[in-house]
Amino acid sequence: MNIQLAEFTGSFTSVKTCPDDSRAEFAFIGRSNVGKSSLINMLTNKKSLAKVSGTPGKTQMLNYFLIDSQWYLVDLPGYGYARTSKSVKDKFGSMITGYLKNRETLVCTFILIDIRHELQKIDKEFINWCGEHNVPFCLVFTKSDKLGPSQISSNVSAIRKALLKEWESLPPHFVTSAVTRAGRDEITEFINVTLKETKQS
Ligand code: GDP
Repeated sequence: MNIQLAEFTGSFTSVKTCPDDSRAEFAFIGRSNVGKSSLINMLTNKKSLAKVSGTPGKTQMLNYFLIDSQWYLVDLPGYGYARTSKSVKDKFGSMITGYLKNRETLVCTFILIDIRHELQKIDKEFINWCGEHNVPFCLVFTKSDKLGPSQISSNVSAIRKALLKEWESLPPHFVTSAVTRAGRDEITEFINVTLKETKQS
């Protein structure tokens, strides 16, 4: 599946004000600087689609893009600023946790992780929170062009191993690069298949 049309729908501050629409949603989230805007632009073949969310005031909102009139790509705010606050709600913000827990049309959340580093505490906490709240997610490793093939597989294994200490199984993962466009076909195909399954159920 190649994305043809990506239109900015709007920016929202709470799940209550999000579009009243039954179309499926796929959300993207990660620590700030993980490469989320670059990945969204790469997936949608746009040079600066996700720049909208980079404009002042929009980075802390739920930014909606309608893709091929079929589904919404939801660009969620980056997390990891409020490292000192104790509760998950404070760390990720009630807007994000409210959206993830309550948005009925949310089909999958892509959690972005920089492939170059060990699993960060904040990412682990966020992934665990998603698991505990039955939020469907996949892992997306970003910036794979910065490592060689063997380093990619050992880093992916190490991160998965760290998570498997607490979880019996893990959802699919994708290895991506906005520079080489690695992982693009795999993610769009996953979205395509998931959309078909969602329509059938
Ligand atoms: P965001 O804050 O998560 O939206 O991250 P950005 O997409 O703005 O990227 C943060 C920085 O990482 C920028 O300097 C990007 O050019 C760089 N970056 C993002 N994705 C990649 C990638 O796949 N490969 C490389 N080498 N750099 C990347």
